[in-house]
Amino acid sequence: MPSLREYARKRRFDRTAEPRGAVAREGPAPERLFVVQKHRATALHYDFRLESAGVLRSWAVPKGPSLDPSVKRLAMQVEDHPMDYARFEGIIPAGEYGGGTVMVWDIGTWSPGEEGDPEGAFRAGAIRFTLAGRKLKGSWRLIRTRGRQWLLIKSRDGAASTDDVTLAKPRSVLTRRLMAGIARDAGGDLKTAATADP
Ligand code: MN
Repeated sequence: MPSLREYARKRRFDRTAEPRGAVAREGPAPERLFVVQKHRATALHYDFRLESAGVLRSWAVPKGPSLDPSVKRLAMQVEDHPMDYARFEGIIPAGEYGGGTVMVWDIGTWSPGEEGDPEGAFRAGAIRFTLAGRKLKGSWRLIRTRGRQWLLIKSRDGAASTDDVTLAKPRSVLTRRLMAGIARDAGGDLKTAATADP
């Protein structure tokens, strides 16, 4: 079952600008939202989120997504996030959970593979899906290996490539800013944020 209890427990909403949010009513729309947020917290990672059951199911991908089908990227499952989180870009204050700079690195829609039942696939630990983002496209899979540990893998298709998309396309899809620009505009730690820019 989707739940935002862990999400809310980790955050102080009087200190962070992150949305409190709520579990959304699951719409009939076949188009589901996906978002990838570049996040320079203690360490840089990319938060990969797929809408399902009224929340954003979430994984932290330390190295970010790879378009190369031979590359398996570690994706640590983290707490469900509210739908409102998808457009959160800015800073989380130092000392708060996830303190640092957040960029909306990619956004778009996703559709489940032939199984057609995302929550069933999620529970089974094997999700095949297609992304229609600005940077990430085509077929992908998330495979659970143990516990909260999954692998994010690009499937072979026309969108596969050996180019490093995180280096080639480093800017926010919402504002075109780099990490340093986001930190500067929000009064955050510019120097640390800049280490996450190419
Ligand atoms: Mn994160």
